Amino acid sequence: MRPYRNRAEIIRSVKCLKTRLRQIKKRGLSIGFVPTMGALHEGHFSLMRAARRETDKVIISIFVNPLQFGPQDDFQRYPRNTKKDIRLAKSCGVDIVFFPSVRLMYPEGGKTYVDMHALNRSGSGHALTASLCGRSRPGHFQGVMTVVAKLFNLVEPDIAYFGQKDFQQAVIIKKMVADLNMNLKIKVLPIIREADGLAMSSRNNYLSPRERQDALCLYHSLLEARRLIKSGECASGKIIQKMRRKITRVKSARIDYISIVNPETLEDVRRLKRGELVRRGGGKVLVVLAVYIGRTRLIDNMVV
Ligand code: AMP
Repeated sequence: MRPYRNRAEIIRSVKCLKTRLRQIKKRGLSIGFVPTMGALHEGHFSLMRAARRETDKVIISIFVNPLQFGPQDDFQRYPRNTKKDIRLAKSCGVDIVFFPSVRLMYPEGGKTYVDMHALNRSGSGHALTASLCGRSRPGHFQGVMTVVAKLFNLVEPDIAYFGQKDFQQAVIIKKMVADLNMNLKIKVLPIIREADGLAMSSRNNYLSPRERQDALCLYHSLLEARRLIKSGECASGKIIQKMRRKITRVKSARIDYISIVNPETLEDVRRLKRGELVRRGGGKVLVVLAVYIGRTRLIDNMVV
């Protein structure tokens, strides 16, 4: 890869950001945006590189968003290493690192939040935010949607990049963008894994060497699910049971949820369909799980 000039700008105020954006837009340049919470790794870099390839100016944000953490969550201990992050972002060709404070993002008196309702206007429906991680982390997606909407308004990107690692988040953001007529494109890129299969995550930093080994049970259970589906198993219950068995063998592991869902609606799929749909390349399901390894909650998924 071509080396980049070492000149990413660090911007901490809305005024500076808007001044730079005016200059960029005046020159007719496109903006690629990668929102992150820092503690950057290859998963984040894959998004930055895609933005580098596809847009003229790459902006990332580093902001550990308190609104998406519950009272029992790890907001205080979430890994923060801004100096290193900025250095790494520069080497991926990032032009601007937007690094706002909590006060800047949430000035006192803020009263507006973005959220999704379970019911549609006819009074029935299923909320993308209510299932899976939304069930075990109430309020989490309201925090995510609110911060992402604010960041979109601040950065005004043409394309924003998200990872499939947070599959539910990506589906929700796409829906928010469509529902609110936001003027940008969302791109979702594949999960980047360690050589042994563990999905890269800032939270992997919490794991002890023993737990790091134990954490492989998430990926191995997904591989088991894929194997079962490919060999013709149609009953989601049976697949989930086998995944459970694999994970409960690991002492430090505690399952939060394992689900097999429709990748668009995130609704449970009880029975997988065979035949015509599959032959035509449709009929995909999302196998998705959240598991505590010790105190660390990890998520992973696979589209099969
Ligand atoms: P985070 O800093 O955890 O909020 O993540 C910022 C963005 O990076 C989100 O869109 C994540 O889905 C994405 N991301 C995190 N881990 C990975 C990974 N292992 N592979 C691909 N994308 C990732």
